[in-house]
Amino acid sequence: MDREPFGIIAGAYDPFRREKIDIYVRNGLVERVVPAANRADSAAGDSRVLDASGYVATPGLVETHIHMDKAFLSERLERPAATLGEAIEMTAALKPGYTLADVTARSRRALERSLSFGVSLLRAQVEIDPVLGLLSLESALALKAEFAGRMTLQFVAFPQEGIFNQPGAARLLREAIRLGADAVGGIPYNDRDAGEHLDFVFRLAAEAGLPVDLHLDFSDDPMQLAIEDVIVRTLEYGLEGRVCVGHLTSLGSVPPDRARRIAEHLAKAGIHVFTLPATDLYLNGRGDTHAVRRGIAPVGLLLDAGVNVCFGTNNLRNAFTPFGTGDPLDIALLLAQTSYMGTEADAARLLGMCTDRAATALGIDSWALRPGAPADFALIRADSVQDLIYDRPRERLSLRGGRLLA
Ligand SMILES: [Zn+2]
Repeated sequence: MDREPFGIIAGAYDPFRREKIDIYVRNGLVERVVPAANRADSAAGDSRVLDASGYVATPGLVETHIHMDKAFLSERLERPAATLGEAIEMTAALKPGYTLADVTARSRRALERSLSFGVSLLRAQVEIDPVLGLLSLESALALKAEFAGRMTLQFVAFPQEGIFNQPGAARLLREAIRLGADAVGGIPYNDRDAGEHLDFVFRLAAEAGLPVDLHLDFSDDPMQLAIEDVIVRTLEYGLEGRVCVGHLTSLGSVPPDRARRIAEHLAKAGIHVFTLPATDLYLNGRGDTHAVRRGIAPVGLLLDAGVNVCFGTNNLRNAFTPFGTGDPLDIALLLAQTSYMGTEADAARLLGMCTDRAATALGIDSWALRPGAPADFALIRADSVQDLIYDRPRERLSLRGGRLLA
């Protein structure tokens, strides 16, 4: 049953404007945003006015990077993984047991969690390999239809097990693109040759006119560094602004002068970085016997260089990450704690990293509370942006086209 859209969302706090605002909605779009102090009293008592005082208004939360098809697998594991290689191996061993119903049930559980936290745009990494074939994508496309009107979903065709070390994987990736994947994925550190892998991914993306979304440099080894090759190919294929890289943790172990130079090139090439701290902190640094490194991307250095850094949940309760709720604000707090982001400005920046900045990375530029943008936003019970990030209140409302979602 469709609910009536609200005409005015009144009195919410806007952490970017740093004032209380009224949002006027017409035909599913934001018509105007004005300071609440300017409101005429005649609006009071109108049933089309949603009293949002006590809430922070933000564009809908964005999940940039999640694996819903391998979420909630922990109970099938005999023991936790001790390394990234083990996590990949243990998860691959479970794949022959996946069925369409199983993948769909676990994925739906992940999506329902995201929705309950106020996520309205989500990009999932969908695994394509010769064992699963296109089963994960088939499940994802059905869920896209099921969640239409509540959440915008994008899917990355992700060759988790590699491309060239898996006979048939290249053909399946092409087929996934034909069926409707939104981005070409890649994982050069899990194939026989990283350069060959990247060449294939960039060529396929350029041919299909799609963006690239890579798993990259997931290590604490400064020598495992494919990012420079990615920068070169981004420029070569004219994909500036259309390439995202997840993890990029090796860069955190690179000496600062070189890391800064790489960050400057990343900014120039418009490459978006998704830091995935829940998984990165859990799996990196395992070889350090003392002075253990955090093993996450150098977020401050990248931001200072002007790189669009966002973050993602990545995994929920599996070999890669045995915990996780799916709330982007949990990851925001984790990043605040581990990347020295403790001021009010940092809190606003963290919120931007899971709203408008994240949407930009996913190719959507209209993700903001401004005239002409879709009236899709979240209202979260909090008095300030610090309370929002540090307390992660559960009292949240999602609006889509000005309509309140159930
Ligand atoms: Zn991932």
